[in-house]
Amino acid sequence: MKDKRLFTPGPTEVPKEVLKAISGKVMHHRKKEFSGIFENVIKNSASVFRSQGEIFLFSSSGTGAMEASVVNLTSPGDKALVIIAGKFGQRWAQLCSAFDVETEIIDCPWGEAVDPQKIKDSLQANPDIKAVFTTLLETSTAVVHPIKEIAEAVRGTNALLAVDAVSGLSCEELETDQWGVDVVVAASHKALMNPPGLGLLCVSDKAKRAYENNARKSYYWDLKKASASLKNLQTPYTPAVNMVYGLDKAIEMILAEGVENVWQRHRDLAGVAREALQDMGLELFSTSPSNGLTAVKVPEGKDCKKILTNLEENARMVFAGGQSHLKGKIIRIAHMGWCAEKDLRRALDALKKELEKQ
Ligand code: PMP
Repeated sequence: MKDKRLFTPGPTEVPKEVLKAISGKVMHHRKKEFSGIFENVIKNSASVFRSQGEIFLFSSSGTGAMEASVVNLTSPGDKALVIIAGKFGQRWAQLCSAFDVETEIIDCPWGEAVDPQKIKDSLQANPDIKAVFTTLLETSTAVVHPIKEIAEAVRGTNALLAVDAVSGLSCEELETDQWGVDVVVAASHKALMNPPGLGLLCVSDKAKRAYENNARKSYYWDLKKASASLKNLQTPYTPAVNMVYGLDKAIEMILAEGVENVWQRHRDLAGVAREALQDMGLELFSTSPSNGLTAVKVPEGKDCKKILTNLEENARMVFAGGQSHLKGKIIRIAHMGWCAEKDLRRALDALKKELEKQ
């Protein structure tokens, strides 16, 4: 496995500088030296989130940070609006159900983005909606949703807007404060160029007031406790210390490249992928294709499993297939995070050769 290049939408490739940082000596998390690194991560990640809001780090996967959003923004019996356009929209709905939150659902065909007007209409019809849960980059379909327009639809209502940017942060344009997004969820193992292990949350003042006054109790995910610790540059419980070194390094690399340049690099990579794939005669799956990964339909008569296995065994490249009902029907190629054009072109060439062989 060690020699296989990941073109999967998480985990993704990790630069050697980050791996080196992670392999550093373990520090005690209550000591000044570690707080200095933690402070750096929090301060610098504000530039990636494009927000002056509170930033929390959890030793968890992305789903943990999604759960933290649901338990802190809602109480049992509250109503939320959930946009489902794939597997990760479904996850929001499942979390709401697990925590006794009533849901209004906007169901979009997989492969399509949500129409913001539907959100506006739903909020008008249901003024008691406390929160809107949606996704920036729906990884299961390679769709990017129009968060700016969604935020406009939510603006002026009492509802909070929570965006799952687990896959999207740093590869899709997101202006958290400027657009008026209240909660952004992220994770280390996508465009943030780290192994899995850290979940991140960025929280607006409006969302802070909501969690401070929320009746529901939680323990590990309690943002009131996390916020009190954050003031002392700490986390309530032992953080994944070495992962924090890795995130510090990766964010330093993103800021050195420039957040907008990183967005542009992803736009360019997505352009290369779409053009090359269409030149191979393949059809894009998404009608609102993302910049972090590209999905194509498996051509009639081709065996998806065989294509993916051969690419892995022979070309030593790991691509992703479809999830749920899309299993066997689409191939997903991630170009998020630590990905240069030459890496992507190598992957596209390998896919082309494999398709020709079949
Ligand atoms: N949301 C999105 C958009 C994702 O892509 C993923 C991971 N594939 C998750 C949430 C869940 O993250 P995790 O697997 O880290 O819990």
